[in-house]
Formats: sequence, structure tokens, C-alpha cells
Amino acid sequence: MIVVMEKGASQEQVQHMVERVEGLGLKAHVIVGTERTVIAAIGVKREETRQSLESGPGVAEVVPILAPYKVASREVKKDPTQIVVGGLHVGAGAVGVIAGPCSVESEEQIVQTARAVKAAGASALRGGAFKPRTSPYSFQGLKEQGLKFLASAREETGLAIVTEVMSTEDVELVAKYADVLQIGARNMQNYRLLEAVGHTRNAVLLKRGPSATMEELLLAAEYILNEGNTQVMLCERGIRTFENHTRFTLPLASVPYLHHKTHLPVVVDPSHGTGHTYLVPDMAVASVAAGADGLILEVHPDPEKAMSDGYQSLSIPQFEATMLRCRKIAEAIGKQFG
Ligand code: PEP
Ligand code: MN
Repeated sequence: MIVVMEKGASQEQVQHMVERVEGLGLKAHVIVGTERTVIAAIGVKREETRQSLESGPGVAEVVPILAPYKVASREVKKDPTQIVVGGLHVGAGAVGVIAGPCSVESEEQIVQTARAVKAAGASALRGGAFKPRTSPYSFQGLKEQGLKFLASAREETGLAIVTEVMSTEDVELVAKYADVLQIGARNMQNYRLLEAVGHTRNAVLLKRGPSATMEELLLAAEYILNEGNTQVMLCERGIRTFENHTRFTLPLASVPYLHHKTHLPVVVDPSHGTGHTYLVPDMAVASVAAGADGLILEVHPDPEKAMSDGYQSLSIPQFEATMLRCRKIAEAIGKQFG
């Protein structure tokens, strides 16, 4: 249910209604909009709950939330959410760019990449320290050492750090070094992990599972939001289909669809979405044109020697050229880019 407050409702009235909602055994999420404040009341409701809230001071109306996801829904918050982490702005008119290697391989590699992507206009650095690999015999990441190298790259460049956390026991450690916690596609429905990142105050980049529906993605986001962490970005990274000309199938219609259903920003990953370097620049441009609020791109100073995903990574000159093209599109549709 949404408790919609009157336009001029006071702070005290909002607080009073939060207490009323909590008194009914429901969770209260206050959302301050440009027009008015609403309180999303989440939990199992009794028949009389609605009427009892409707009579509260400063309350305009109480309406049900029809979508199965609640806090993530556009019904609760009409204005798009912007996530700001250091210089990274994602959503509500800003297109943020997160770039860097698939895996952190050495201090030199990550610092060199960070400098180059920053010079080309990226605002955040990606790099996996804990890597979810299909084979246990593949490079698994440098783990805490990799996090330390990411921290040096941040110190050198000021870029916000985006890195994956794979398990609940690593959340505290990764959150110490990262600005944005990435939940990988394979973990989108690891509900204990979603709750654990929901308890942090780091922003979260939630990747779509390769066979997850949009509703499942939004309900996964809801797990994080429901723990009180409002800084969630969704990421379309491609899904598994019968097609094999690309590593995954990148459905860009999910961008406008998600904008329709949720206020959360939508980032696109054309690197994993296509799995081939030569397809990445055009799909990055197309993502911005489709309304993406951010891009996450794999960039490596020497893709041929990359320890993971070199075949889909952009070289630094390719990244620079892609940024120029994406910037033009963003400007043409009236968005800030970088
Ligand atoms: C990644 O971004 O490095 C990654 C492993 O992505 P995904 O979880 O989307 O496969
Ligand atoms: Mn990768």
C-alpha cells in the first residue's frame, strides 16, 4: 500500500504516519518526491489497515501497489532515481560510464587502465577481484590483493570502484574497498546475498540473471531495497537464448520496459551482452539511444593477454572512439554523459 501524503504535509505528520504504519507491523519506506511525499507500507495487511491509515493526519489517500515488487515500482515513486557515487552519476538524465578490465590482474594493469578510461571520460572503474568462473580451473581473481589494487587505482584517479561480491561472507571485506557492490548474473537470485548488500550503504549494481525475467530481476532488487538500501542500479547484461552468434542475446527493449516499471536506473553491459569486441561499440551506442542510464564496458590495455574475457574487451583506443560516439548520442537526446 502507498500512503500518499497531502502536498503541504509536515515532517511531523509524515513521521506520525511512519509510526502508525510500523505500529501495524508493516515496514515503512518514505519516498520524498518532487510533488509530494509517499510512504510505502510493505508487509502482510489486514482488511482494516487501509481505512485506519486513510484517516491519519496529512494523508491524501491510501492506494494499493499493484506490482509484485513494491519499493522498486514506479507506482511508489514517479521520479527517476539518480545514483551518485563520487563522480559517477547514473539515471535521471545522466548516463554514467563504468569501464575497466574483466579481472584485476596486477597493480600496473589496473592503474594504467584507470588512467586511460578516466582520460576518455569514464567516471567509474570496474574490475573483478572475486571472479565467478564457469570452470574451477580458470583464473579466480586476486581476491583481497585485487581489492587493494583497485583502492590504489581510486587513489590515483579518484574514479569510483565497481567490483563484484560473490558471497555473504565477503560482503564486509568487499564493501570496505568498493564504492559500488556488483551482484553478478549468476547470483541474481542468491537472496541471502541480496539481503546482505541491502544492509550496507554501498550502491549496488544488480545484474540480470541470464534466464531471469524482468519481474524476477525487479523482485531481486526488491530484496535489497527492502533492507533499506535505496542505491540500486539494474543491469541488462544479456540472456541465454537459442542464438549462438553472440555469447548472450542483448535485449535492449528491457531498457524502456524497465523505465516504464521502475524508477531505478538501468545500466547496459554490451561486453557480456555480445561477447565479441567488434560488436561492443555499436551496441554501446544503441544502449544510450535506447535510454540506458549507464554503460559498463570491459576495457583492457592489451586484450589479447587478458586473463579473462579478452575476446569481448575493448582496447583503450577502441574505448576512446566508443566514448566519442556515445557522447554524441547522449547529447542529441539531452543527457549528461560520462
Ligand atoms: C562481470 O561483469 O565481470 C561478470 C562476471 O558479469 P556477469 O555477472 O554479468 O556475467
Ligand atoms: Mn567479464
